[in-house]
Amino acid sequence: MKELICEYCGKNLLDNVNKSNVVFYYRNNIEKVIVCCNIKCDEILQKKYNLYSKYNKLTDYTNPILYKIRLNQFIDEINGVGMSYTKDAIKSYTDVFIAMSEFVFRCATQEEESYVKLLGMLG
Ligand SMILES: [Zn+2]
Repeated sequence: MKELICEYCGKNLLDNVNKSNVVFYYRNNIEKVIVCCNIKCDEILQKKYNLYSKYNKLTDYTNPILYKIRLNQFIDEINGVGMSYTKDAIKSYTDVFIAMSEFVFRCATQEEESYVKLLGMLG
């Protein structure tokens, strides 16, 4: 399983998804997307970055319906609907979706895995 590391204290947030946030720091654009523990580390980072912020609970990304809604919003936003993202913010938020996919995707069947190998897309 992939890790999602708190920007401040370095804890792997996948070990305690319930007490973690995805935070979006912005001025005109989303400048930075980070993940952190939801009270102490978040407050320290708010002061450090001194930007406006909004957040989603990390648990939202363990709910298949919310995961899909958040992913659709992100795709719309990087295609110009609403706020735009810096390259760094796109990379960070993409990493959140990849890490959290473990919670919402089912495991591939052997047939599906064989097919992907046949396509040469798995090592
Ligand atoms: Zn932390």
